[in-house]
Amino acid sequence: MNTSHDVIVIGARCAGSPTAMLLARKGYRVLLVDRATFPSDTISTHVLHPLAVASLAGWGLLDRLAATGCPPIHSYDFDFGPFTISGQPGTADAPLAYCPRRTILDKLLVDAAAEAGAEVREGFVVDEILSEDGRVTGVRGHSKAGGPVTERAAVVVGADGRHSLLAGAVQAEQYNEKPPLLCGYYSYWSDLPMDGRFETSIRPLRGFAAAPTHGGLTLVIVGWPAAEFEENKLHVEQSYLGAIDLAPAFAERLRGARREAPFVGAMVPNFFRKPYGPGWALVGDAGYNRDFITAQGILDAFRDAETCAGALDQALTGARPFDEAMNAYQRGRDQRVSAMYELTCQLATLDPPPPELQQLLAAIHGNQAAMDAFVRMNAGTISPAEFFAPENVGAMMAGARVGP
Ligand SMILES: Cc1cc2nc3c(=O)[nH]c(=O)nc-3n(C[C@H](O)[C@H](O)[C@H](O)COP(=O)(O)OP(=O)(O)OC[C@H]3O[C@@H](n4cnc5c(N)ncnc54)[C@H](O)[C@@H]3O)c2cc1C
Repeated sequence: MNTSHDVIVIGARCAGSPTAMLLARKGYRVLLVDRATFPSDTISTHVLHPLAVASLAGWGLLDRLAATGCPPIHSYDFDFGPFTISGQPGTADAPLAYCPRRTILDKLLVDAAAEAGAEVREGFVVDEILSEDGRVTGVRGHSKAGGPVTERAAVVVGADGRHSLLAGAVQAEQYNEKPPLLCGYYSYWSDLPMDGRFETSIRPLRGFAAAPTHGGLTLVIVGWPAAEFEENKLHVEQSYLGAIDLAPAFAERLRGARREAPFVGAMVPNFFRKPYGPGWALVGDAGYNRDFITAQGILDAFRDAETCAGALDQALTGARPFDEAMNAYQRGRDQRVSAMYELTCQLATLDPPPPELQQLLAAIHGNQAAMDAFVRMNAGTISPAEFFAPENVGAMMAGARVGP
């Protein structure tokens, strides 16, 4: 096909910029567009679990993040009320998490894509997906000042978020859907030191989490069931502080802190989409969206970027037929995330843990290896399927040292 680009990527945040960067590093002609300009914020908190940090390191970008002054996070605490499970979320190779502002992380990623040779067009809105004979062939869009522009490519990648224009245009099959389960509101606080910890508190029908970010601020997000959205939306501050009051020690710390930003809230649906078809592919939230309670989205986006770019490379070089390479991408994604997806959707209900899980948590409290394993599971470092495997649960209940 005679095109000016090999690949057009729509969306230049956590999924799109790394996809464009990795393809450009392989020598492909990549056009990366986003309606946003960078740096800019987006509605999202931003815990980067250790395996996402490992991706940044693998791409040669971790030093840049560390140089922005983002405080590293070395341990996670899960406060269940009667006891707290504390552990280390990473591995020996990737021990640290971070919580970088999206203004900083996304800008760093866009710049890396441009440095790799991708043509980056910020402030460019894709209005229409072009196709011929059932195959996507390009996009039509416009920049803020200009008229309509047509661009063609062998493959168009939708990294355009959960409301993906591309997914809608190709009617990507959607499966394993669940409605929004959790409503979250977050803000940023000064004078709330975290000492390198990411803290989560779980209470009946309430949960909240706090992590240190740029500028000496601490991000605090509070969640309640989606069913309470209407009831609470007119008094968010009261509901937010009321949830935190359920954990008196943290509430006391928060009373000594100052809120530095307005509350921002969100609820998201849960779904998978088939991430490929003739001339198109989906990465990040465009292809798979899950509740934010387990903070997996950026890690998932980075993994998609790596595996989708690898599959597209196979297809574009002819090493493997497009459908075969992209089917492997889809199967790999679904296998990797399915157990975490189910756990995430279960946690997002904010229902109390079932009795067996409560027993297990009480049994592992104080067993550092088991607590590390629990924390790693929540960070996505190990799969819930591995953590909840009968032999592992048996060993933890027997008080044996397990892990890593
Ligand atoms: C409240 C909340 C808290 C979260 N907390 C965390 C967390 O702590 N850790 C974590 O890992 N994940 C978290 N997530 C999830 C995370 O935000 C997403 O998984 C991640 O942003 C997905 O990145 P993406 O690149 O796929 O999509 P997005 O970040 O949504 O980026 C899509 C981009 O596409 C562009 N775009 C869309 N349509 C067009 C168009 N037609 N033309 C041009 N450009 C277009 C948009 O401008 C946007 O920049 C949270 C999400 C929410 C809602």
